[in-house]
Amino acid sequence: MTKTGQFATLAVHAGQEPDPITGAVIPPISLSTTFAQSAAGVHRGFDYSRSGNPTRQAFETAVAALEKGKYALAFSSGSVTTATVLNMVGQGGHVISVNDTYGGTFRYFTKVAKRNGVEVEFLDLFDPNVLKKALKPNTKMVWIETPTNPTLRLVDIKAIAEIAHSQPGVVLVVDNTFMSPYFQNPLELGADIVVHSVTKYINGHSDVVMGVAITNSDEYNEELKFLQNSIGGVPSAFDCFLANRGLKTLHLRMKRHEENAIAVARFLEASDKVEEVIYPGLESHRQHALAKKQQRGFGGMVSFRLKSGGLPASNRFLSTLRIFALAESLGGVESLAELPAVMTHASLTPEARQEVGVTDTLIRLSVGIEDAEDLIEDVRRGLEAALP
Ligand SMILES: *Cc1c(COP(=O)(O)O)cnc(C)c1O
Repeated sequence: MTKTGQFATLAVHAGQEPDPITGAVIPPISLSTTFAQSAAGVHRGFDYSRSGNPTRQAFETAVAALEKGKYALAFSSGSVTTATVLNMVGQGGHVISVNDTYGGTFRYFTKVAKRNGVEVEFLDLFDPNVLKKALKPNTKMVWIETPTNPTLRLVDIKAIAEIAHSQPGVVLVVDNTFMSPYFQNPLELGADIVVHSVTKYINGHSDVVMGVAITNSDEYNEELKFLQNSIGGVPSAFDCFLANRGLKTLHLRMKRHEENAIAVARFLEASDKVEEVIYPGLESHRQHALAKKQQRGFGGMVSFRLKSGGLPASNRFLSTLRIFALAESLGGVESLAELPAVMTHASLTPEARQEVGVTDTLIRLSVGIEDAEDLIEDVRRGLEAALP
């Protein structure tokens, strides 16, 4: 019904048709694995729940609308979304990826894709011209994340899209997990496929592991739908329901995440115990201008480096926090803090960590939607303990 409107209207209404039989305003959780057919092969759009499910379809329709795409396909995790998209690249194919990628993506690219005969090359794509020289005749895909994790460096999506598309058949994929569709729509900047770990901001409540891929291309949608059904990494109806419920407040949550993140980032920047604060919303961020150009906001992730003290100081900071939970993951309503070198990025080799700037004093915060003053007080106590 409601297919048009601004972001907040779409977040609440897109894909949410009242149930035609009961009038239920919230789409029911459709648990049935199979659907009755009126004659062999004649059905109402669903035959078997791996291939298609009404609750999943409601969620997919909503996400597609928010990400400005024609199609969305939901998966049982962000990781299997990545794996399924990578399956578009056949044996002997070459993929170029930004070198500062999510740890699990790096692991998949280096350890699994390789086994399937796909070669992934990691490059510093912060200068888009690097891509121009790196394209090979067998390059099939370019994979970027922006801002990257955990050093929050930006990749110019539009510039990368132009260069990637100078070679016919190259698919540009953008992992938009950190910005969420509220702050950035890569399809509008030239990306072919957008992927999300729904586990993070889209669901937003740290109680669902899920992923989604969005595209405007009929061809890529057909291919991904085929792979989704063949590989079968689909989410449960219950998880789709929870993620859809989370999605309805995405705009409210993202605004608050950002307000709090700016407050915490400014506090850290003013502290003499902090060497560097990395937040794209700060004027001091090297790519602040690009952030303003391609994003509508700066998000809730803040990384910073303690001035000194190495691993022990980082550990003192983290163990002193009371509101920020010491945990991996991000994007939930509650604030989290983690040490990438030991936690999320432990699967990188020490050399790879060094190359992307994941040092022992780099701490990553996922700033939640609590009271900003309470969060700042928590960080203040952590800094006192880290470097007394
Ligand atoms: C978490 C994450 C993933 C992987 O998603 P899962 O849902 O944990 O499988 C991929 N990309 C980014 C940027 C992430 O933060």
